[in-house]
Amino acid sequence: MSDHDDHIQHTWNLAHPDGDEITIDLWIDGYTVRVDGGDGEASETGRKAVEELLEKYTTAGYQITSSYAVNDPASRDEVEPDAVEPDGKPSACPECGSPVEYVANHCSDFREGEAWLCTGCRWGQYVTA
Ligand SMILES: [Zn+2]
Repeated sequence: MSDHDDHIQHTWNLAHPDGDEITIDLWIDGYTVRVDGGDGEASETGRKAVEELLEKYTTAGYQITSSYAVNDPASRDEVEPDAVEPDGKPSACPECGSPVEYVANHCSDFREGEAWLCTGCRWGQYVTA
């Protein structure tokens, strides 16, 4: 983080039990990704790169300590800004094959919490951490 973060759209902070810390920044252009710490990657593939980086570093033992929108364009903000998808996302709905999306706050008759929801038939499954 810096005093001048006008160019940052979203920041993810990760920490390793050994004490290493990593910051991943997605710029407001939606493409530029910069890693501070870790292997210091730089990418131009936006959230795809962020997802790959998060997977890489969480696989390496890092925990996501926080993530937050800095200058997230509000207009296309249907996704919960603080939602970081946990591991284990189904690649497709087992019922109909449609894409599955992560919902941070899904409500049903029984419980409320993180869930995978089908964008087609609304099949749903809670993320069990
Ligand atoms: Zn489905």
